[in-house]
Amino acid sequence: MGFLMLAILLGLVTSSCRSSDENGSDARWNAARAEMVALLKQFYGVTDERVLAAMGKVRRHVFIPAAFRDAATAYGDYPRPIGHGQTISQPYIVAYMTACVDVKPGEKVLEIGTGSGYQAAVLAELGAEVYSIEIIPELASHAAATLAGEGYGGVHVLTGDGYKGWPEHAPFDVVIVTCAPDDVPQALVEQLREGGRMIVPVGSAAQRLVMLRKKDGRAAREDGLPVRFVPMVRGP
Ligand code: SAH
Repeated sequence: MGFLMLAILLGLVTSSCRSSDENGSDARWNAARAEMVALLKQFYGVTDERVLAAMGKVRRHVFIPAAFRDAATAYGDYPRPIGHGQTISQPYIVAYMTACVDVKPGEKVLEIGTGSGYQAAVLAELGAEVYSIEIIPELASHAAATLAGEGYGGVHVLTGDGYKGWPEHAPFDVVIVTCAPDDVPQALVEQLREGGRMIVPVGSAAQRLVMLRKKDGRAAREDGLPVRFVPMVRGP
């Protein structure tokens, strides 16, 4: 009898722990996300309210595959592994790049390097029509599934080589490259519309974010922040 009581009590305790854990962890993720946004504003001085709102909304932790997801680091101020030797960018870099290209609702955006799908979700949250290319098939399909599950099923994900761009859907208002080529890929400049903006980390050991603005058929270049991205690899 005593044993039965104990078992029932234990059952109650564990089941109530489980449900409070689920609610509690949701609240913890939300709190971690709010802290991330506060850091972007207060420490990094990000002022673009639309970008801050989008990053306050997109559930970054869900984009990190479960095997790599960790409550202590998912919203941390650094890049995180997502498998296959790749990483999801540091939140500040996502905010900085997204703010630089000033995406407006309805604009067509090409992303190179879908990775987890997080950056694509932030762009979709800003109202962009997003086309994203990923060279590793497993990451492309994981990202597409996560995007759909999070309500961003409108994002078009292609498994392929970003050096070629996506000519069928060109021209793009914005191109955002989240892996680092040695030089600005010419096909991507060609697929940028007149007045379009492109941001790309360029270099191997030392990289810089390069911003291009296309005017009169020519791309004006401006070099910015030093960064560290995974290399943009050549497809077969
Ligand atoms: N934007 C991503 C982070 C991407 S990490 C996110 O929000 O999670 C860079 C990605 O670029 C990796 O997934 C890598 O596989 C991919 N990549 C590297 N070379 C590429 C190429 N030539 N074409 C398309 N994707 C490429």
